Amino acid sequence: MVILLGTTTNEAGRANMAKQVTCDCGFMLRTPSDDELVKHVQLHAKDTHSLDLTPEQALARAVSVEATIQA
Ligand SMILES: [Zn+2]
Repeated sequence: MVILLGTTTNEAGRANMAKQVTCDCGFMLRTPSDDELVKHVQLHAKDTHSLDLTPEQALARAVSVEATIQA
């Protein structure tokens, strides 16, 4: 499963970075929003792995990537 949120807009003059989380199970999430990242990573961890993650734990799994999608 791959979730890409808000990563297709390319506004001039704005740093175009996002955060990405890749899970061992193949789940991948990329979003420029920390709030969205935490929400979806927590949901995934709960639904798929029966894990309760704190926002800090969710963010700790993220790496910074370029937001623009190379289709
Ligand atoms: Zn997973």
